[in-house]
Amino acid sequence: MERTLVLIKPDGVRRNIIGDVISRIERKGLKIVALELRTLDAETARTHYEEHASRPFFPSLVDFITSGPLVAMVVEGDRCVEAFRALAGATDPVAAGPGTIRGDFALQVQANIVHGSDSTYSAEREIKLFFPDLG
Ligand code: ATP
Repeated sequence: MERTLVLIKPDGVRRNIIGDVISRIERKGLKIVALELRTLDAETARTHYEEHASRPFFPSLVDFITSGPLVAMVVEGDRCVEAFRALAGATDPVAAGPGTIRGDFALQVQANIVHGSDSTYSAEREIKLFFPDLG
């Protein structure tokens, strides 16, 4: 069964919308198979976002993602990578459609509430980083 890594980023936790995000995942028919509230250290954050290491926003992105607790989840289901990215909406929340998580809750491209792996390949790498015991 396909799996994806979902993060409710620190802005989502600060705004007390963990339940709303989880509810949307469950209502869609996807299954949460692992879940943890944790604060990332800078090294883990840099590894997670390594594809953006050369971008000007990288230092600020690492500061943001380590700024408080986040919720990390492994979500499972048929085509769940694509299904969760559709639930999340576009990276830029202003462009994200109403009814999507980012479209409903966010305005800024950095503080955009959730992360979802962008491919099954990334999902495998990210799940290993966040849940090394999951196999
Ligand atoms: P995610 O990987 O978090 O699911 P994404 O795949 O939609 O998001 P990416 O282009 O991979 O988007 O960017 C990763 C994250 O980096 C974004 O979710 C956002 O928090 C941040 N980001 C992207 N572009 C910018 C930018 N121009 N300025 C600030 N932060 C940005």
